Amino acid sequence: MVDTSFATYFRERLLNWAAEIERPMPWKGEKDPYLIWLSEIILQQTRVEQGMPYFENFKRDYPTVQALAEAPEDEVMKLWQGLGYYSRARNLHAAAKIVSSTYEGKFPADHRQLLSLPGVGPYTAAAIASFAFALPYAVVDGNVFRILSRVLGIDTPVDTTAGKKEFARIAQELLDQEDPARYNQAIMDFGALKCVPRNPDCERCPLADRCIALRDGLIDLLPVKEKKLVRKDRYFQYFILQWKDQVVIRKRTAKDIWRKLYEFPLIETTGIEFGGWAQSDLWRELGLKEAGELKRTAGPFRQQLTHQRIVAVFREIELAGPPSELPEDYLVVDRKNLAKFAFPKLIDCYLRDNSLNLF
Ligand code: SF4
Repeated sequence: MVDTSFATYFRERLLNWAAEIERPMPWKGEKDPYLIWLSEIILQQTRVEQGMPYFENFKRDYPTVQALAEAPEDEVMKLWQGLGYYSRARNLHAAAKIVSSTYEGKFPADHRQLLSLPGVGPYTAAAIASFAFALPYAVVDGNVFRILSRVLGIDTPVDTTAGKKEFARIAQELLDQEDPARYNQAIMDFGALKCVPRNPDCERCPLADRCIALRDGLIDLLPVKEKKLVRKDRYFQYFILQWKDQVVIRKRTAKDIWRKLYEFPLIETTGIEFGGWAQSDLWRELGLKEAGELKRTAGPFRQQLTHQRIVAVFREIELAGPPSELPEDYLVVDRKNLAKFAFPKLIDCYLRDNSLNLF
């Protein structure tokens, strides 16, 4: 239990600091739960500068949750292209459909019901509940873990169940029950501007006189994480199978990265070197009788994801005609229509580099 006098001190210092700063953002002060939800989903694992244009585009194309619910899935994925973590876009669309049908287009003013929407975790539910409906739920994210672990000198790992519970309890005890929206906004701004991960501005920090990490020299050690991130390398050999102005693409449907985005026919290998594709399962699957003429090889292109690094090589293969068999996920498109499909960033970079795509 946090000491009451400390809780009062923390709230007052934080809110006084917030009253003095300016951090304008298009969704700040917003009361419309749809726009709050949209901005929160877009900003998960995304920097504000990167997310801002996406927020504006979604707001423009889908001004209401009904408009988003009714949009074709490929169109939503295309608008999301480049933002990464594509499960967010799939959940966004699924949640919009639920709000539109189950709740008649109105976000529920109920924390538990908000939490039941796809892609809405405790942080987003607390943000919508407090900003749109003034309900007393404290936001808890990486910023809050950092601030609380430092100020209070807590070394419980934040990526454990016990850690998450402890920080959520403390955050809730510190929350200003009278004005949860103002408090939540203040702590988010404080984490973004003052108590930042590296080189926090301790010299001019309003909490410096009671910050344990500052007193004990623990700033670089807090917050503590238990698990180290393990990254694996994956090698993607892409084949741009083309004849006249036609090219084969496919939709990724497996439970893997980039699900529901498009790509070229792919062979995944254990290393960057690769030959003998004419004997591969892919060629058999497509019923290709010819090896085709290798026109050009491009790459390697690299993309770093949270848990994996993708290394891709692109081979442009000229065929005499279309493949005799096209499995369900594959389709033939005119090259000039490639821009209509949502591709992962790495393929988008390749297309732009090679002027294959008429953007
Ligand atoms: S004194 Fe430094 S570490 Fe402590 S809360 Fe302020 S900015 Fe963060």
